[in-house]
This record gives sequence, C-alpha cells and structure tokens, in this order.
Amino acid sequence: MTSEFRRNATSALQQDDVQTNLNRVVHKLREHRQAAWIAADEWRQLRRHCQAIRENAVRKLPQLLEQLETNLIRNGIQVHWAETAEQANHVVLSIMQRHDAKLIIKGKSMVSEEIALNHFLMQHGIQALETDLGEFIIQLAGEKPAHIIVPALHKNRRQIAELLHRHFPGYAYTEDVDELAQLARKILRDHFQFARVGLTGVNFMIAESGTLCLVENEGNGRMCSTIPPVHIAVTGIEKVVEKLSDIPPLLSILTRSATGQPITTYFNMISAPRQPGEKDGPREVHVVLLDNGRSTSYRDRELAATLRCIRCAACINHCPVYQHIGGHAYGTVIPGPIGSILEPQQRGLDRYGELTQASTLCGACTEVCPVGIPIADILNRLRWDATRQDADCSTPGAGSGYIPAQTALWKLWAWQCTHPGAYRLSTRLATRLRVVLPGYFDAWTNVRTMPKLAKTTLHERLKALGIDHE
Ligand code: SF4
Repeated sequence: MTSEFRRNATSALQQDDVQTNLNRVVHKLREHRQAAWIAADEWRQLRRHCQAIRENAVRKLPQLLEQLETNLIRNGIQVHWAETAEQANHVVLSIMQRHDAKLIIKGKSMVSEEIALNHFLMQHGIQALETDLGEFIIQLAGEKPAHIIVPALHKNRRQIAELLHRHFPGYAYTEDVDELAQLARKILRDHFQFARVGLTGVNFMIAESGTLCLVENEGNGRMCSTIPPVHIAVTGIEKVVEKLSDIPPLLSILTRSATGQPITTYFNMISAPRQPGEKDGPREVHVVLLDNGRSTSYRDRELAATLRCIRCAACINHCPVYQHIGGHAYGTVIPGPIGSILEPQQRGLDRYGELTQASTLCGACTEVCPVGIPIADILNRLRWDATRQDADCSTPGAGSGYIPAQTALWKLWAWQCTHPGAYRLSTRLATRLRVVLPGYFDAWTNVRTMPKLAKTTLHERLKALGIDHE
C-alpha cells in the first residue's frame, strides 16, 4: 500500500514549479547563512556556547518552568498550562469568549499551527487572521505552511499576485514585490485597530525575570502584542532559558542560522501588561504553556535533545530530501529533519514513523544545527523504536513498524556476518547462483539497478592472486 507521505512526495517531485520555487528560496537562505559566518571559529565557539545554554535549560526544565511561572505571575502575566492541544485551544477560546471577541489577529506561531487553533476557533464562530505576510498568503490559499520561517516559499511572485487579486479584486493587479507587500499591509492594517485580542508565538522565555521574547522581521508580531487590549502568547514548554544573559548569543545564532541576518528587525521583550499611567500596551497578557508530548521526550535521555531546538530551519534548508519534496509532502506542521524527529515523538511512530525514513542520514542537518542536536542519531534511534518489542520504550507508537519476517531476516543476516563459515558459504552460493537470482528487490530497485554479483567471491579472488587474506 502506498502511504500518504509517499503519495505526497511523488506528487511534489512531479511539480516543476514547486521544485523551482523551492530551489530558489532554499539556495538563497543557505547562501545568506554561509555569508553570515565569515569566521568558522566564531561559529564553532558560539555554537558550543548556545548548545550549553539549551542543554542547561532542558536539563533543568521542571525547575525553570516553576521559576518562570512565579516570575510571570509576579509581573502580572496570566499563566495557563495545557497538557494537550485541545486544552490549549480551550484556554484561548475561553479568553476570547470572556472578552466577547469574534476576531483574533495572529503573529506567526508554529505552536498555534500545531494545535490547529484557527480551525478550532472557526468552529466556534471566531475568525483568526494571520498577519505575517507568508502566513497571510497561505491562509488565503487555504494551505498549511511549507516551511517554518518562510511559510509560502513554495509560491512564486506570480502565484502570490494572482492569489491576492482573486481575494481582493478591488485592488490593481501587480507582480511588483514592494507593491504586493504594501497591498497586504493596507488590507491587514484595518484589522489591527479593531481586534480585541492578539496572539503571537514566543521564541524564548526567561525564567529569572519572567520575560517573553519574540523575534520577528515584519513588525506584525509587535502590533499583535501591543495594539489589542488582550495579548495571548502560545508556546511550547521547552522555550524557557535560565537567564537574561542567555538571550544575546541565542538571538545572534538564531537569526544568522535562519536568514543570515546579524540581527532581526524587531526583537520584543514582553514583561508585563500595561501599567497604570502607561499610554499603550495590552491590559491583559496571557501565556499558554503547552506540553503536548514534550515531557515524554524530556524523560528520555537521548530524545530530550530534540527540545533544544530554536526553530531556525537551518536543518530544513540543508536537507536534500526537503529540497526535493518541499514541506507539504511531510503532512506535518514542522517539516524537514527536525519535523522528522519531532512529529513522531509528539504524535506517535504509528502515524509519523515513516518520516524517520525520509532521510539519507547524510548528516548535513546535524552539522548545521546551531544547538548541536544529533538529528541523524535521533532518526536512527526512532527507526529502532518503531520496531522495538520491549516494554522499556516510552516513545508513542513504539513497535508499530515491527514486521516479524523482516526482523527474522536481519537476525539471520547478523548471524551470517558473525560466523565466517556461514558467511563464506552464503557468498559462494550467491555468486554461483547469480544468474537465477531476481533482478528486483522491492522498492529499493524501483529507482536503482540491482548490482551484478561477481563470478567468484573476494576470498576466492584473493586466494587466486596468492594474497594472504585470513
Ligand atoms: S533542529 Fe537545529 S537546525 Fe533544525 S530548526 Fe532546530 S535548531 Fe534549527
């Protein structure tokens, strides 16, 4: 049976425009990242430092979250814990209902994608409007983000111009990038004035001060978090760091790894709602801290490294598989290498275990990751978990990929490779029977030619040459 992932990937490979658009943007992002690191030493040092910061934060996660909660509350920020996506959605809904709000304006938030917030709110009669340009475009197209920092990278200028013209025929058609951005700005601006609730994601949370940090380039995140009277930030629990001094190195490595920028255009630090005497800012600030499987990863020594991720997308931009099939083929919120280790942990190997196979294990993702997540090792670990039959494994959906015949075959292969007599006999038999062996080997030979076996084994050839090979 062909899986959904295989169908999506096959279809993406046949779409020339997807390939062209992907190549154009991903290459540009890679070039910018490379140009941002002039000195390799600087990159290595900063990477070591940032890895240590994130390791420390993940190691102390429970304490830091408690400290964060205490300080957020002291600052006047309302804290909501959500164990599941459903709980997080209900928290947002109840805040909206309390304020009798029918529209929520949103800055970019991958966690809100994770919990499918827009769809949930729509079912309750509330409109969610994306204000990040890329998110706005894909919302109009009725699609999901194809990338975590450039959600509409699979669309070119003409496709975006046609999309905007279809939805807003009152404005003149243009393919000029600046004019398109101005147009979206004009359309969105009115909504900022009237929305009672704004929602954003969070890049980092500082435990020692109870501060939410938001990194963005368009200024829409700042508007969503300051203009409406109520600001809701939704975030995964892993975004916490211990100290304020952890932020500058993380910010530097994040922007350079993501877009090659030495610094982002806007960096927001939200520490409290509007104070008496202040003229602007929200009167209420809420933060929704989402678990949704993260604490299961935290409890596993190896998988906990996944929680270090700062969502820079460098691994995605360097993945040869992503570059060919694009983000939608994965069928997940987070695509690419980080998605292939994250989604099976959060949503189960039974549903997303196949993604762990969507990798050549070339290791490019591990090499570019600014916080040193061993992505290739984790992919291998999850592949193993998918076939494990022991009760020790807590990864959701563990064992769902177990195929008894396959396991028996690998055991036989391992036995043969560790017994020289059996190995020699089997290779000798294979060379002698090569003409009757099948030239097809399942999906492996769909895109490859079966290698031809030699007439004699290597041992026989060495022996004939008089070379001592024992
Ligand atoms: S895994 Fe590493 S490279 Fe990939 S998004 Fe996360 S921090 Fe960036």
